Amino acid sequence: MLDTSVWSGRISLGGDWVEASGGATYTVVEPATGESLGQVGKASPDDVRRAAQHATEAQRSWAATPHSERAAVLRRAGDLWHAHAEEVMGWNVREVGAVPGMAGFSLDVAAAECFEAAALPSYAAGKVLATDQPRLSISQRVPAGVVGVISPFNVPLILSIRAVAPALALGNAVILKPDPRSAVTGGVTIVRIFEEAGLPAGVLQLLPGGAEVGEALTTDPDVRVIAFTGSTPAGRKVGEAAGRHLKRAHLELGGNSAFLVLEDADVDQAVNLAAWGAFFHQGQICMTVGRHLVHDSLYDAYVEKLAAKADQLPVGNPATDDVALGPIIDEAQRDKIHALVTGSQQAGARLVAGGTYDGLFYRPTVLADSPVDAPAYAEEVFGPVASVVRFSDLDEAVKLATAGDYGLSLGIVTRDAMRGLELAARIPSGIVHVNDQTVNDEANAPFGGLGVSGTGSRHGGAEANIDAFTETRWITLRSEPPTFPF
Ligand code: NAD
Repeated sequence: MLDTSVWSGRISLGGDWVEASGGATYTVVEPATGESLGQVGKASPDDVRRAAQHATEAQRSWAATPHSERAAVLRRAGDLWHAHAEEVMGWNVREVGAVPGMAGFSLDVAAAECFEAAALPSYAAGKVLATDQPRLSISQRVPAGVVGVISPFNVPLILSIRAVAPALALGNAVILKPDPRSAVTGGVTIVRIFEEAGLPAGVLQLLPGGAEVGEALTTDPDVRVIAFTGSTPAGRKVGEAAGRHLKRAHLELGGNSAFLVLEDADVDQAVNLAAWGAFFHQGQICMTVGRHLVHDSLYDAYVEKLAAKADQLPVGNPATDDVALGPIIDEAQRDKIHALVTGSQQAGARLVAGGTYDGLFYRPTVLADSPVDAPAYAEEVFGPVASVVRFSDLDEAVKLATAGDYGLSLGIVTRDAMRGLELAARIPSGIVHVNDQTVNDEANAPFGGLGVSGTGSRHGGAEANIDAFTETRWITLRSEPPTFPF
């Protein structure tokens, strides 16, 4: 399926794999080794214009395709992920540095997203409204038209497919712009799967590119909805540009999620959850536990056990070795992580594990006694760094957890789940897990954040996806035209 002779050095435009205008390409680099894995086409803003025109054309006939046929395409796509598991996972491991478990999870979610989306074409598309007139009054959901999907490097398959699949299912055409560092996993695989599933030509197009291509997509007059996943600063720009052009932007942005360990928690269980939440996928997940808030009575044991666990985790090339953590995506990200760690030490945090790297392999790191203004505690790190802070009562825990502007995910560990839920009610967050860590994803659950973590729109589940990717139309029908005073 991923035979490079089909797509190497090309973009997907108007139903064909073609050279980008200008013929430019990106080299796909394996972060674990620095080796070149191949080439993808490098789209330009001109390609966005051409893709939007093709998409407008293709969308009309796709929306008019019987719902059962649209659903069948989504179901076939769902089946094909596992049929091509080895190839897709192999690319995810090498291109992104994901450990095989993460690549397998991404594959499962990709399939689940397609199966969930397969139920959308036949979902009730409207409501009959009360009316004071002798008429039938209906609200109807209609496709938004052309949807632009912009996705980041970190979990490229899930973060692209979670918007692509429901948008297609609801009768839209999609232009996908993945991050160039992960354009095979987050782009080529998806287009190839839908080609094999029988999606008509031009309904899904692929434009790997940088910010300038994302900007062109956001401002193109034929693109009506943008589904953006990425950093808060880039999300602000996308939101501003979309607002100027009077189009909707669904913004899924950064996080610095809090993980609260109450005094009745089992410290070993809490540490196991914390290590996964902080270090899984090298901490390059929007929901990663950023702030570990631990009750005084467990604090010392928690720090000691988390540091011991961090010291034991193997870090290395996930394509060749059995490791818990793979590489950071590139040097710029690694240097940003390291600057936040050293800046936190200078601010007074105590380094108890990690804080070192070899190439792009960053050791899982624990910073204890973090001052609340230490940068690795106060900002999103996007790396395997756990900052731990103590609290003595629930009011103090709430004050710590609610500080800062992010509001993506929240984890609370306590033997009294009801108390955990009551505590969660005091802490604004788009996602809450009582007795679990913060990193969770299911295709049927409405995923999204509050504050600077997003605009409050959601991906996941029929209701959220219909809100995201359709417009509402009011329709009335009468047997006889009404009469008016003049
Ligand atoms: P980024 O914002 O730099 O890039 C994300 C995507 O946006 C890329 O495709 C990039 O090319 C594009 N882009 C950048 N500037 C743009 C602009 N001005 N207009 C249009 N497109 C633009 O993000 P990153 O640093 O590569 O990714 C990590 C960030 O993504 C973290 O902050 C993380 O928390 C966030 N994230 C959020 C979620 C979520 O669901 N909330 C999920 C994963 C990652």
